[in-house]
Amino acid sequence: MTTYKNCRIPFVVANWKINKLQGQVFDYLEKVNQQVPDSSVVETGIAAQDIFLADMVRETENSPIHVVAENVHWQDAGAYTGETSPRALADLGVTYVLIGHFERRKFFNETDATVNLKVMAALRNGLKPIVDIDEDMSVYTQSMEAQPAVAQVAAALAGVSVDQIRNVTIAYEPTWAIGSGEAASAQQAQKAAQLIRQTLAQLYSPSIAEKIRILYGGSVDINNAAQIMGQADIDGVLVGRAALDPEQFLSLVAIAQQTSSSQPAD
Ligand code: PEP
Repeated sequence: MTTYKNCRIPFVVANWKINKLQGQVFDYLEKVNQQVPDSSVVETGIAAQDIFLADMVRETENSPIHVVAENVHWQDAGAYTGETSPRALADLGVTYVLIGHFERRKFFNETDATVNLKVMAALRNGLKPIVDIDEDMSVYTQSMEAQPAVAQVAAALAGVSVDQIRNVTIAYEPTWAIGSGEAASAQQAQKAAQLIRQTLAQLYSPSIAEKIRILYGGSVDINNAAQIMGQADIDGVLVGRAALDPEQFLSLVAIAQQTSSSQPAD
């Protein structure tokens, strides 16, 4: 399948997880707010704990940075103590939400079924899901084919319509690369992303699949980002550790901008 990378705007997303304190949130945003390019060039997002989201929406009011929630519940409202309503996130001005991150699957019993419910809830409320697709190293090394990733894509998107899929971003994150300091090679990442795009083409159509962004996540840093983002099917990165530092986040955004204007490496 030939891909047309230039019809997709690159997307760089920082995932702070639970690593920031309130003062650090303000410092970081002050450093990056006016330094990122317009969203028509490179989209940028920062995923943070719920307690900071309202502050972040306010602080990024005049910045192209999107505020991203790290999780969401599948019910709009009701008796679900401790959960976060998708309706409330949308009302707050949050744009994107991470769904099915590997750490949610591993530590909080997130399953393909709950991921799907959350994707539907996000879309129903006007939030844009960034759907995490992970992959276990044991399976990967046995077959060198990203088959689990394919199954997860289909399960996560069950019931998502042709109109809705335009608002979905996929993040491919091999479990063994997350937080390990050992990123997938650019070729491994491309191979998986290509397979995911082929799956999207089967689920929807080749022309729709061409418009859906696929990010890579897992130990991305300023040394490997250019090669990874230079791949034909990779449209950006989801970054944990390296993006805790505002300077590195800005460097990653600059790399996304450079690679998007150069030819993809097939
Ligand atoms: C992540 O948490 O999604 C992630 C990719 O983390 P890191 O960049 O630290 O591997």
